[in-house]
Amino acid sequence: MGRPASAVTGSRLDVARIREDFPILDQTVDGRPLVYLDSAASSQKPLQVIDAIRTYYLRDHANVHRGVHELARRATEAYEDSRARVARWVNAADAHEIVWTRGTSEALNLVAFSIGQARVGHGDEIIVSAMEHHSNLVPWQLLAERNGAKLRFVELTDAGRLDLDQLRDMLGARTRVVALPHVSNALGTINPVREIGRLVRGRSDAVLVLDGAQGAPHLAVDVQSLGCDFYAFSGHKMCGPTGMGALWGNRQLLEEMPPYQGGGEMIEHVYRDHSTWAEVPHKFEAGTPNIAGAVGMAAAADYLDGVDRAAIHEHEKSLTRRAISLLADVEGLRIFGPGALEERAGVVPFVIDGTSAQDVATILDAQGIAVRAGHHCAQLVVDRFQVSATTRASFYLYNTVEEVEQLAEGVRTARNVLLG
Ligand code: PLP
Repeated sequence: MGRPASAVTGSRLDVARIREDFPILDQTVDGRPLVYLDSAASSQKPLQVIDAIRTYYLRDHANVHRGVHELARRATEAYEDSRARVARWVNAADAHEIVWTRGTSEALNLVAFSIGQARVGHGDEIIVSAMEHHSNLVPWQLLAERNGAKLRFVELTDAGRLDLDQLRDMLGARTRVVALPHVSNALGTINPVREIGRLVRGRSDAVLVLDGAQGAPHLAVDVQSLGCDFYAFSGHKMCGPTGMGALWGNRQLLEEMPPYQGGGEMIEHVYRDHSTWAEVPHKFEAGTPNIAGAVGMAAAADYLDGVDRAAIHEHEKSLTRRAISLLADVEGLRIFGPGALEERAGVVPFVIDGTSAQDVATILDAQGIAVRAGHHCAQLVVDRFQVSATTRASFYLYNTVEEVEQLAEGVRTARNVLLG
């Protein structure tokens, strides 16, 4: 159910055509056309995804795995086919390496809990960075507290990159886990994850966990060549439904890890005093799952592949280039993150000196422009750059150059209103 090839002309996206798939974008806010620049928080959903979920509920729904009847068979097939589809999205070797979760946060909590039980003890070290979304920080803090492990932080350079020299020096015999973002939601930095994988492998026996919440929706991810052990991502940031995500994991580690939650579906046999576990990945999926969510996430993968992921990435890059060049002309405006476009995703965080990021976002909203302001669940990032918040515009396949120009104009208006 992907887009026809006509959504791409040469290597350029036909954005007008793509926008027909996203009716939500065709509305006004206070009489102004909506300009949706908040896809890093959550992306919009095309009709193809909405239809897939609707069709599932209209025709195929029942509980999965347990039933022998026709609808149970269909629902199970839809659920497991979706797993295989999402496995292909990150080029996993086997669908059984995909564990369904509620999203990136739950995927990271699962790894922190289970790998923590299996591998992290008193005095062991867990390396994270000052770039983390709280979802890839708080679970590790909880683990460190529980098991008496030590959290260590890779700091950020002024350009918003990870300090890899520091990471190299930190890695050692005590390092049990390295958990880092593929792409920063607060800076837009695309981290050199292959290089990080080589570093971690070369200098430790640590497990490498990547937070792929902002990576999987925008970059071609190949978990077989990244050199990581776990990759976590969310459906709702890649045009799929909310409350749905996935964890890709190294099969051997998944086998080794204890379950995350107990309940139906995740057991092999239950005795009075103990239980044995179902095969991976079902061992990690207690209870009735979000079957429609899985169907929607697979439909989103179909849709984005149908458009062409490489062309989407190029489109986001060109919007980012335009945004940076226009915003750089606004007096007193500072943009965070790496200068080189190759190193950044379609995320442009900025502040205007002497104004509050929230006020800027509010004035943009009055012009129909949806952006986000705050610490973006990455408080260590705003602390590092000594601001309390940033205003963040983020782009996806359905955004246009005109919208970026409206953003720049809106930011100019905000500056004039706030600073005179
Ligand atoms: N990690 C990053 C980098 C994110 O941007 C987000 C969401 O904004 C998350 C993790 C958490 O994702 P979710 O809220 O879908 O669990």
